[in-house]
Amino acid sequence: MQAGVHCKSGADLRQIRMVIAKVTSSCNLRCSYCCTDAIPITQPGATMTMETHRHAATLLIGGTELPEIQWIFHGGEPMLLPVPWYEEAIEHCITVAEANPHLKRLMIGMQSNLTRLTPEYLALIKKYRIQVGSSLDGPPHLSDVHRQGGKRVEENIELLAREGAPAGVIALINKNTIRHLDEVVDYFDRKGFGVTFNATCPTGRGTNLEDLTGEELCAAKRAVLVRADKSHNLRLLSPDLIKQIFYFHTGERDMTERTCHNYNCGAGVSLIGMDPSGDLWPCGRSSDADMGRFGNVNDPGTLADFPATLRKFHEKDLWYMRCFGCPARLICMFGCTAFDKESIPTREMDCRATKLLYQYFCDHRDLIARLFEWIEIDMQKMKQEVAIKKPTPPFLRLHTGSHPCASCAPLSRVGQPHEGDRTAGPSRTASDSSERRRSGVSAAIH
Ligand code: SF4
Ligand code: SF4
Repeated sequence: MQAGVHCKSGADLRQIRMVIAKVTSSCNLRCSYCCTDAIPITQPGATMTMETHRHAATLLIGGTELPEIQWIFHGGEPMLLPVPWYEEAIEHCITVAEANPHLKRLMIGMQSNLTRLTPEYLALIKKYRIQVGSSLDGPPHLSDVHRQGGKRVEENIELLAREGAPAGVIALINKNTIRHLDEVVDYFDRKGFGVTFNATCPTGRGTNLEDLTGEELCAAKRAVLVRADKSHNLRLLSPDLIKQIFYFHTGERDMTERTCHNYNCGAGVSLIGMDPSGDLWPCGRSSDADMGRFGNVNDPGTLADFPATLRKFHEKDLWYMRCFGCPARLICMFGCTAFDKESIPTREMDCRATKLLYQYFCDHRDLIARLFEWIEIDMQKMKQEVAIKKPTPPFLRLHTGSHPCASCAPLSRVGQPHEGDRTAGPSRTASDSSERRRSGVSAAIH
């Protein structure tokens, strides 16, 4: 497809800046709360074919009219595919990006459980400056209650950090970790990992788990805020908390933003999900929830109902009437469109947690003001670093200078794309180094 052209099929892909490419439905682990039910790698259709990947890259990277796009390899466990597969896939992404006159940056990410990190994978990550996100719910013995391989994951997160490619960590708050909240927060504070705390969702295998309450979720957020303040460790603050601090302290919020954290999220507008068969979905989570399938990249004609499907996906029911006039609206993240749509208890939990958190913010304005100030200082520091390392515009902060997690995690995560907030780890930057002669686009590949 010609770069930047409105897809003839009816799908408007011009504002896409993030693609969640689920390249396999298989996983080597069986975490008890996983939102998908992994299938064996040998099962037909368990992995994406190179042909499908090429079609997807051509359609989506070729179709955006934005100056940057993130291509996130997701799963299942993406490291089940061989390294040469990624070499070929990424090279095609680069080629398509170079041909799109709108694009200045292409960023490659990978969300992995990190239990299969090999020297070859490490070399791939470093070669393309792949932004890795992983999951660990706390110290390995606590994380392993619902996950597996905690010690190995911890070791590999530390290995990546030593190798200059630090991974972002998602820690799920569940009934187990909430009972050991101090130990969990203490662990991440001590380790210095850039962490995003998310609540478990009653979906996939997680439907059998006991729900968190709003009180518990709010208690976890309070504990993180207090520890970040006490230790002056801003890496404990996830993108949603940082945004909430900003909204509350400034009293301002742009409700038209299309990110995960808004009343109308960016699913199908600024980001899009794809499963191993090449089916397109509003985002990665909507494919888990089997909600809003658009069509298939191998036959763009199947995307004819894109606008109607997208409208239906974002429809809100009367439950949300309560939001009008709610003071907590200033900091509300409005749940997840895909996961909350059919789960009123999850909405109630999120809503209750938000109202309690808002009250906590009101009662602790000094704490919020302090954190705001530190984040601002951190952001200024990061801007200066970027300006020194890459003074010539146009450039994007995420793709310039050294890895942001290494020095200025909060800034990097404020700018992190929406679904990445929930399903991928913190963003990375990259220098422009490229041995090969490439255009501005490819030079930014990291
Ligand atoms: S806290 Fe609840 S009522 Fe208030 S804006 Fe958020 S979801 Fe709506
Ligand atoms: S994760 Fe949820 S809130 Fe975020 S884009 Fe997807 S559906 Fe929307």
